Amino acid sequence: MSLQHAHGFDLEARLRERERAGLRRDLAPVDSVAARARVAADPKDDQPTFGDEQLVFAANNYLGLAGDERVAEAAARAAADIGTGAGASRLVVGDTPAHRSLERRLAEEKNTERALAFSSGYAANVGTITALDPDVIFSDELNHASIVDGSQLSGGDVEVYDHCDADALAEAMADRDTNASHDESWLVVTDSVFSMDGDVAPLEAICDVADEFGAWVMVDEAHATGVYDGGIVGERGLEHRVDVQLGTLSKALGAQGGFIAGDEVLIEHLLNVARSFVFSTGLAPPAAAAAERALDLAPEQRDHLWRNVDRLREGLETMGYDVWGDTHILPIVVGDRADAVALDERLREAGLIAPAIRPPTVPEGTSRIRLAPQATHTDADIDRCLAAFEAAGEEVGLL
Ligand code: PMP
Repeated sequence: MSLQHAHGFDLEARLRERERAGLRRDLAPVDSVAARARVAADPKDDQPTFGDEQLVFAANNYLGLAGDERVAEAAARAAADIGTGAGASRLVVGDTPAHRSLERRLAEEKNTERALAFSSGYAANVGTITALDPDVIFSDELNHASIVDGSQLSGGDVEVYDHCDADALAEAMADRDTNASHDESWLVVTDSVFSMDGDVAPLEAICDVADEFGAWVMVDEAHATGVYDGGIVGERGLEHRVDVQLGTLSKALGAQGGFIAGDEVLIEHLLNVARSFVFSTGLAPPAAAAAERALDLAPEQRDHLWRNVDRLREGLETMGYDVWGDTHILPIVVGDRADAVALDERLREAGLIAPAIRPPTVPEGTSRIRLAPQATHTDADIDRCLAAFEAAGEEVGLL
């Protein structure tokens, strides 16, 4: 007699549970990825009707290049000349001139010997951390989910240290430092720009600690790629102290995909061992060509972005808002989750998409609006955003 697994998967119950905990998510259809987009009236509708145009302050398309005609042209040319998809793993038959050219360009940009493109930043993190197979991973408590997942999958011990705290990192290393541990491989991994707090890891201090204990350093520059010249690592001249640089093509570069930049031997190892590279179809050639074109255009777009960031931060702080961070991401921390939701709703009514971020995504008492301006917002857009924040803040009683 065979035993039956009678219960199966009660997914409806699991969804109801998420709903009760306030964790149920929904898709959010929009008609464009530009700085202005129309949002679906009913996200559940298969063929949604889109409402009025709204200003988007929630995308990671920081340089506005996902909607840039010049980038689209480069993608279209690669699609026509090479193909819309890579057709196979790069190790089989999917390694095209678009990939090679992008990787040369990325290595130049990051000032490393070589670079390797993955099909996403997520795949790059998971594939790289597992391929390095560290004995111990020291990880900032606010690191991205793909770092957390890669670390877990690697099977190494994970030591989580306090956010952006190099002293806490040193303490964690000192605690594990024994004669026996000298044979172990240690990896410190951190985001450079943190997407919810808009702050920057103390990379110099982290490199100092790693040097002291003989650990490797890996930095995830997903939110810095394209926004900072060579990333934060490049801006601070740390490319020879950081062993593994990760970036994404999917945010400021307006395309899709991820990459690792580093020494020749690192890249050779990854293309042999990183399972998300070996066993996955190569990055689509149009995405590679789009990202390369975006790299050409990034410097001029950057100037527009920083102008918008400075005007917004100054305007919001003058009104009395608590704006965290010191990057192009502006977290406006209001504290209470109900206040953040009320603010989000008022902003939406005023034609602005700037979502409330609540626990468990951020710690209790730090609910916020995460504002991500784009290079393609006009002065009038920024003024509209500020006016909406002023009116909404007064209505909700925050100002
Ligand atoms: N790292 C960080 C810090 C991220 O924020 C993200 C995307 N949210 C990723 C990696 C994954 O990149 P991608 O979207 O290209 O998969």
